[in-house]
Amino acid sequence: MSIYIHQDNSFEQSQTVSRECPHCGAHAQLLPVATPSFTALSAYRPQHVGIAFRCAACTEPRFTRTSVRAYEVSRIELSNNLIEVERGREHFQFSYLPGATERLFREALQCYTAGCYNAFASMCRRTVQISLADLGADAKLRWHDLFREIVVIGELDGDTVRTLETVLFGADSQIPELQADHAAILIEAIKDMVYQSFVRTAKLRAAMKMRRYFAAEQAGKITSIDRQTRRAESA
Ligand SMILES: [Zn+2]
Repeated sequence: MSIYIHQDNSFEQSQTVSRECPHCGAHAQLLPVATPSFTALSAYRPQHVGIAFRCAACTEPRFTRTSVRAYEVSRIELSNNLIEVERGREHFQFSYLPGATERLFREALQCYTAGCYNAFASMCRRTVQISLADLGADAKLRWHDLFREIVVIGELDGDTVRTLETVLFGADSQIPELQADHAAILIEAIKDMVYQSFVRTAKLRAAMKMRRYFAAEQAGKITSIDRQTRRAESA
């Protein structure tokens, strides 16, 4: 399947492309909005061209690059293999993290988005180190338990487990080289561990505090003296 730019600048795409949108998350069609001109391509004859689409669901722009297959007299044939120039950012509830952890973890996720998997691995190690320093003495065991749980849930193979364990908890400064497949597992693992340690803890504590407050309020409707005491306690 190919894409054609005709002599009259018309754009022909025999097969529509649908992909997950990095902006809205929907699996939506890419609709062309800015396509290359036949005259310009014929004049400069580049090997690669850019095409701008919009997401059919949220209308945000989606920038792509593709290669030219053939320059013909009446049309130019482009490959249908559209490479997205802009990669979706990883989402996380960063506001629940302590300042230093947030800064390092943000950068870790940015490295992953940029496809810099070894920089990502190094930043994961730093995220673990700063988190453990922040969480106190028992945290290391808890994080190891979290990791073992992820291994079981994800049914990870021995090689992946050894690589990721060394990246996250290795004692020396050597961090194994990471390929895309291991990085894809590591991103889910580190997000889960950071979530469990900080976001889940903070949310659970806040929810419990809220429930206890309302329970105290309710109890207070029965005896007003008790209500005042409880309020003083919770303050
Ligand atoms: Zn969208």
